[in-house]
Amino acid sequence: MRNMSKESEYDLELNKIKSWIEKYKINKVLIQCPNGLKYLAFKLAEWFEEQNVKAYISSSNCWGACDIAINEAKYIGCEAIIHVGHNGPYHEKSIENVRIFFIPAYYRRLNAERVIEKLRPYLANIKSVGLVSSIQHVRDLLSIGNKLASEGINVYIGNPNFKWMYPGQVIGCNVTSAISVSRYVNSFICISGGVFHAIGVRIMTQKEVISYDPYLDKVTKEEIDMFLKRTLTKKLYNLTRAMDMKRVGILLCSKIGQCKLKEAIKVKHLLEKKNYKCKIIVFDNLTPSLLENFLGDVDFYINTGCPRIGLDDLRLYENFIIINLGEVDYLIYGKLKDYDIRKSLAWSPNF
Ligand code: SF4
Repeated sequence: MRNMSKESEYDLELNKIKSWIEKYKINKVLIQCPNGLKYLAFKLAEWFEEQNVKAYISSSNCWGACDIAINEAKYIGCEAIIHVGHNGPYHEKSIENVRIFFIPAYYRRLNAERVIEKLRPYLANIKSVGLVSSIQHVRDLLSIGNKLASEGINVYIGNPNFKWMYPGQVIGCNVTSAISVSRYVNSFICISGGVFHAIGVRIMTQKEVISYDPYLDKVTKEEIDMFLKRTLTKKLYNLTRAMDMKRVGILLCSKIGQCKLKEAIKVKHLLEKKNYKCKIIVFDNLTPSLLENFLGDVDFYINTGCPRIGLDDLRLYENFIIINLGEVDYLIYGKLKDYDIRKSLAWSPNF
């Protein structure tokens, strides 16, 4: 057997997958990876074939544990999905007779000493810090925490509200591990690729966040604050404009962990009582070109899917007004002077 995990910078836990194949007698599997990890899919497919398991590769977008390709698997007769890069509540469970196995893809090359070296210029005034990361780096949090502690810093790694998440783990719509320790700290250090996770922590805790990207070996801080300022301005502008408009497209995502049908219907009823004209528009992957189809019929959108669409993606949708589910109250009751950006992320996956 080819030892693929040694070749890879990620731990794909092949022994666990092997036991799972044997336990459930898996014959045909669909491999799902997020875009940044899709290059792992071919090697993984080869490995499955060596185990006499037929493997198919999903090329569709895969944004999180909320996005499981059940329909793709069913249509091509796969009894199982290997979902790489995330963890979630369906691990080893079946959804519509398709068995799910999550492989978080832990990153192997993080060097805690290098992290501290890069962070050092930012540590001078920090007495206590919360430590968080994306799933790829949760295994490294303890060693980074120990090194920070040896610099005389009090380190807190909090527990998330979902049992399937790891201490210190954050995802785009759940930073409860950070919130749980926020009162003890002045700053957070977030270990993840890009600033997506750090932005979530910054918004929900309202504390300074220093982000370390292990892939670029780069620390970011000011950019996160600038993003927050820009987004806040854009959000207030969108809400103010929407208050004078009446035709609403309520965006309902068909992905299993994002589909908020009850909430979409409730919002429709609430807004119709206020004389808004609402239609529910179902989507799988939202794009600006999809919304262009409704230019003559819709004045603004309410997004009931992933809250990061109405946050990080606002620049992508600059020709449209998108308001997140958690912000609907401002449309109904006004009171924009009390606007709290945390509400735009006040959303829980449909698990
Ligand atoms: S809903 Fe959005 S932020 Fe939450 S897990 Fe899915 S893709 Fe990530």
